[in-house]
Amino acid sequence: MPKPVLVVGAGPVGLTMAAELARYHVPVRIIDQSQGRTDKSRALAVWPRTLECLAASGCLDAFLATGLRADAIGIHTGSRRIGRIAFDQIASPFNLLLVIPQSETERLLETHLASLGGKVERSTELTAFTDTPEGVICRVRHASGENEEIDASWLIGCDGAHSFVRRTLGMAFEGDTLSTGFLIADVHLTGFAIPPNELAIFWHPDGALMVFPISPGRYRIIADIGTISGQPPNLGQVQSIMDRRGPGGVTLSDPAWLSHFGVNERTVRDYRADRVFLAGDAAHIHSPAGGQGMNTGMQDAFNLAWKLALVEQGKANPALLDSYSRERSPVARQILAESGRLTRLVLLRNPLAQRLRGFLAHRMLGFPEVQRAIVNRLSGIAIAYPDSPLNAGSAQGLRGPSPGQRFMPDLPIAVRDAARFTLWATDDTEARTLIGRYPSLLDPHLRAPPDGKGSWLVRPDGYVAATSRAGKWSPIEAALSKIVAKTAHPPKT
Ligand SMILES: Cc1cc2nc3c(=O)[nH]c(=O)nc-3n(C[C@H](O)[C@H](O)[C@H](O)COP(=O)(O)OP(=O)(O)OC[C@H]3O[C@@H](n4cnc5c(N)ncnc54)[C@H](O)[C@@H]3O)c2cc1C
Repeated sequence: MPKPVLVVGAGPVGLTMAAELARYHVPVRIIDQSQGRTDKSRALAVWPRTLECLAASGCLDAFLATGLRADAIGIHTGSRRIGRIAFDQIASPFNLLLVIPQSETERLLETHLASLGGKVERSTELTAFTDTPEGVICRVRHASGENEEIDASWLIGCDGAHSFVRRTLGMAFEGDTLSTGFLIADVHLTGFAIPPNELAIFWHPDGALMVFPISPGRYRIIADIGTISGQPPNLGQVQSIMDRRGPGGVTLSDPAWLSHFGVNERTVRDYRADRVFLAGDAAHIHSPAGGQGMNTGMQDAFNLAWKLALVEQGKANPALLDSYSRERSPVARQILAESGRLTRLVLLRNPLAQRLRGFLAHRMLGFPEVQRAIVNRLSGIAIAYPDSPLNAGSAQGLRGPSPGQRFMPDLPIAVRDAARFTLWATDDTEARTLIGRYPSLLDPHLRAPPDGKGSWLVRPDGYVAATSRAGKWSPIEAALSKIVAKTAHPPKT
């Protein structure tokens, strides 16, 4: 029996990881110490890049059928709108923000995992592990109090912000804790005049107020409140913040969740220690204000799963796994820096700085290029791996994406259950010979290149690994020969 990969934590990241591994036929077990899924709405925003990944994994339809479509975000002061950014300018087949409570995201991912033959083992806690060159010996405790030793091929810590795996590895979680606290409320609103498919941010001298639709009539409210006291807020307090900072005439009722949270912005340096990986909040935590934490974590899983599948199946050189941290760590750092800047902008206290912020925001959001730059960032479609060790060649002189960039967003996204690279090149003998030489890595189907003449090697997760001009195969060869397992190395022709 092959050893399973052990995924610890069945939040959105662990569930994505387990489902992706199961889709690629890698034996996997997933455990969670809690008895059941979260009932809290927590992360609401699923951005286009995550939707693209869910489409490739074959479970997007269920998400689209369950979530609410948001089409724009507006910035207001009282009843005056300073600016509005529409999501239809996002260069993705899914140019929208899907609003879906995290509890639903987890339910849909768990159903998807079940459709692939996987099941979360609940009330099962990881209590110790030892990393060895052959595998990771993990000790877990079941609800009955019984201990079990799992001999895992790899251990993936998707165990959240307080990660046991990260702490056991002794990895520093570097970053800051903001001094300002936030209030969060999921409530019913009447008299709220903003269209129900728009997110709204209200800037006020007292602080910011964010209002996000969840479902017809229900909204998520977030507001900065200075220092947090021990008690959660009550509905009256949230109502008075809405009255002061909001557009006026809005009545709150029927709270489903009233709480407060502090903002941590932290990350580990390296997402890997030998046979142990970290992903999601275990590796990086963000301000919820930017709606990026869960999306970034789920994309960690999409990045790691195909690499682990190829290595486990003996098709790729284990060095491929080093690219996971090299690619994902800069992404989290950049998102942390950006969401940190956004949070600080929202928290400006100085009245002069607040007036300047309103003036500049109004002017800048009038430029379509500025709007596009903002949504491309938020949506995740601008994420790229320009410094990836997997990249080869350059797209100079070609019309199409460069190594490390996301490939061809407007193509229909194919669901494949094998982690395969695809070759996009003109149909000739050399291209077909190359496909024949790397049968374990390359999809046998040759596809037409975006500009009709160059060649693109595209990774299973939809990013470009290598590009070359017509007839110049060396960058593509270089990329493939770096990745292919030495034992599976094809003979030179
Ligand atoms: C109020 C709020 C709003 C947010 N809004 C957004 C948003 O709009 N968009 C967004 O992208 N993100 C948002 N986030 C962040 C998002 O909720 C997190 O990034 C996300 O939950 C991280 O998922 P995860 O799977 O990494 O960790 P978690 O969801 O924390 O899951 C970790 C799991 O590991 C389990 N576990 C822990 N230790 C062990 C152990 N030793 N053994 C077994 N199991 C263990 C836990 O029980 C838990 O189920 C928000 C967060 C908050 C608090």
